[in-house]
Parts: sequence; C-alpha cells; structure tokens
Amino acid sequence: MRVALAGINARYTHANLALFYLRNEILSSGHEARILEFHISQPRLEMLEGICLESPDAILLSVYIWNVALVRSLLPDIHALCPRSLLVLGGPEAGYSPEAWLAEFPFISHIVAGAGEEAVRILAESGFSLPGQRILRRKNRPFRDIGFPYRDGDFPLLANRYVYYESSRGCPFRCSYCLSSREDQALESKDAQTALEELRRILAYEKNWPSPPIVKFVDRTFNAQPERARSIWAALAEAESRATFHFEIHPALLAEDDFRLLESVPPGRFQFEIGVQSVNEAALRAVNRGMDWACAKKAIARLLEPGNIHVHLDAIFGLPGEGMAECGATVDQIMSLKPHQVQLGFLKCLPGTALRDQADAFGLTHMAEAPYQILSNSWLSFQDLRLLRDIDKLVDSVWNANRLEGELDALAGREGGYFRAFSCLARAAGREGYNPSTRQEGKVREFLERALG
Ligand code: SF4
Repeated sequence: MRVALAGINARYTHANLALFYLRNEILSSGHEARILEFHISQPRLEMLEGICLESPDAILLSVYIWNVALVRSLLPDIHALCPRSLLVLGGPEAGYSPEAWLAEFPFISHIVAGAGEEAVRILAESGFSLPGQRILRRKNRPFRDIGFPYRDGDFPLLANRYVYYESSRGCPFRCSYCLSSREDQALESKDAQTALEELRRILAYEKNWPSPPIVKFVDRTFNAQPERARSIWAALAEAESRATFHFEIHPALLAEDDFRLLESVPPGRFQFEIGVQSVNEAALRAVNRGMDWACAKKAIARLLEPGNIHVHLDAIFGLPGEGMAECGATVDQIMSLKPHQVQLGFLKCLPGTALRDQADAFGLTHMAEAPYQILSNSWLSFQDLRLLRDIDKLVDSVWNANRLEGELDALAGREGGYFRAFSCLARAAGREGYNPSTRQEGKVREFLERALG
C-alpha cells in the first residue's frame, strides 16, 4: 500500500517528529510511506494538492491544537478528492475525543488514541483494515525499544529547520494543566550511550546543512535523571560540532557537578528553556507544580553568570489565585535575572488535563475550541488579560528582540518595577495607537524614549 503521513506544523521551521517514528512502523510492515509536511500559513489548496494528487491508499493525519481547525476544514475535501483512501487520525486533539470525531466525520476509518507506534504497527500489519476497531487504544512498546526516528534520506529535508530529537518521553512531574502529567505519560528514557549514538548520526550529517542546526530535545524535563543528563551534556560539550542543542530543564535539579560542567560548555552550544511559570508558591501548589522559587532562582542566576548558555524563561498568566499583583511579582523576578529570552504565556485548559476538571472551582472560563486559552478566572478579568497580552508583546519587542536594557531599567526605576514599567508602556501604546508587537528597533526605541520623556 502507498501511505501518506501528513503533518501541518505551526511554522515552516518546525517538524513533526511523531510522523518519522510512525513512518518507520509502516515501512517495516512492508508498505510504502511518505511524510508530507506543511505549515499553517500555507494555502489549503497546496495542502490538498500535496496530500491528494497521488491518491494514496491510506492517509494519516496528526491533529494538534495549532492545526485542529485546519484539519477539520480539510477532511471533507480530502475525502471528496480521495474517496477510496483510508483516513486515519491521531495526535492529542483527535485522540482525546475520538467518538466525537467519528460522529462528525463518519468517513474516517480509524483514530489512534494515545501513543502511536504500536497502534500504527498493528494497523499497518492489518493492511489498514481492522473492522470493528475504529478507535485504537494500544499500550505502546517501551520507549527504549522504539528506534531512531530518522533515515538518511530525511536529513536533507531538515535544512533550515529544527532537528527534533527525543531522548526521553513522559515527565516525572504532574502539573495539572499539562498533558504530559497524565498517568499514561510516565517517564521513560534511552540510556545516555544510546542517545549519544543517535545524536552522532545527526551530527555526521551536520556539514551538509547550509547553516548549523538547532537540535531541539523534545524531552519534557531533560535533566529529570541528572546523571544521564550530565553524561549527554558532557559528550555534546566536547563534540566537534557547530550545532546548538536546546533543552527544557528543571533548574532545581542542577547539582554542583552540573554547574562546573556547564560553565565550560562552548558559548552558543547549549540553550536552556526553563518553565518558571510563577514565583508564587500557592499558585504553583494549586496546579501541582513542584518548584521552589528561591532555589530555582539561585540556580538560574548561576547558569546565567558565565554567559555561555542562552537561557529562556517562561511564565504563565492565569494560574489559580494569581491576580495582577502576583503576575507582576513573577515578571519582576524573572526580568531581574535578565535572561536572554522571556516568554509570558497564558494558561490553557486542555481537554484531558486535571485542570479541565477543576475549571469551575477556579471560576475559569476558556476558549471553547483550541487553543483553549483562558478568558477569565476568579482573579483575572478578560480586561486584565488583555493588558497582560499587551505586556507579553512589549516584553517580546523591548527585551527579546532588542534588549533595550538601559531604557527599560530607567523606566522600571521610575515606575517601581519592570511590571509597572511594561504596564505603563501598554497604556501608552493604547493611547498612541502604537502596535505593541512592533519589533523594529528604531520604532521601539523611539516609543520608549517618548514614554520616558
Ligand atoms: S509542565 Fe513540564 S514539568 Fe509539568 S508535567 Fe508538563 S512537562 Fe512535566
């Protein structure tokens, strides 16, 4: 059979790692398989041409919060153009409510609910026909038995895009707003040696890419097993490579040995993303997130000190118990560390998470459709969230894009903190009709000068 695996990514630079694993399952069952990747800004007709012109025997589509609306709009057209193709859906958006999808689109053949490799292997071995089993829920094989996702022919397609790599799946933490906190997401990992052998295969191709790659680990908490993480970091720090490796880490798990190792890593080799989310302990407890801010802050400050590792800090607005004052405290604390990047996100109430069940208790209203973002809760009104969204854009333009540190510090000094400074800028932007998303340095600088004047 000829099978097409279609992924619609949020950006051109992204790739759908899951499709590479599933493609391998299909190939080893003796079928032909092609990965077709698109991005959400592409015209729908281009996607239909890519998927349907060759009338594959089976079409697999993965559905996430960023592409669910597009997939819904494409499905009837795909079915009209390829009425004989078997249609299989997977991914968190389809897997959470497969019955509703099948009712809405009765021409769908199967929906894979949960992790996909084992289910897709069974489906492929059956010739994509499992009568009476339209919803496939299968316990997956252990992650260590799932091989390297890429084949040599894949690497050219990853030019100028992130090269995603996964050395562990699942997460040991249980944050109530996160899909990785579910019971079926227990932490599983490849040992350091296996991971390094796989990474060497990526690096062996490196010189052929037009620019040095960013190898993005999708591990939810890369250093959940500190010794394993340290061995991988040590080897990557010494590798002959121009690549940058991106990791999501938990700062409180860093030990003295890590700091000593990390301060000797070549500049630009590593990027760390750290989900601070909030500095307010009660809010973190309310979402079951384990983070002692005082300890995390010390670790982040130490990571930042040598200046060789790019550090990206995330916060989330909309956590239970957090009004504007608490959101402000988080912004002030994060900005005072002067990380390289700050991302202020908004709570999402994803189907299948514990938070979704507690929404009423927190007075939480959220978008009915993906991305399920918060609209208000007992502590923040829609109006407050609007101001916070403007602040998020201003943090991005003033700090992330242009690092206008002198101007920002002057304004924070005058207003009594960074959050107040950004609030003052957001109000000024509203009065002037200034677009807070502007990232052009000249315009941002002039806007700040006006605000300071
Ligand atoms: S938010 Fe991060 S740390 Fe928390 S459960 Fe999800 S992946 Fe794990």
